[in-house]
Amino acid sequence: MFKEDEGKEILTTEDLQVLLVGNRFKLDCNHYATPGHNFANTIVIISLGGGKIKTQCSECYQGY
Ligand SMILES: [Zn+2]
Repeated sequence: MFKEDEGKEILTTEDLQVLLVGNRFKLDCNHYATPGHNFANTIVIISLGGGKIKTQCSECYQGY
């Protein structure tokens, strides 16, 4: 059963922004995304469980 991670810090979009903006990411679909940049790809983050994630751009995600 899913248990909420109590005591874990909740990050906001502003916090994510600090981590993401200015960096260029290679997604698992082999496309690149540069958050904060004009015309940048939208990043989709898929949670696979077990601490793993998968990233795709929004265009590739539609075929997921
Ligand atoms: Zn893609």
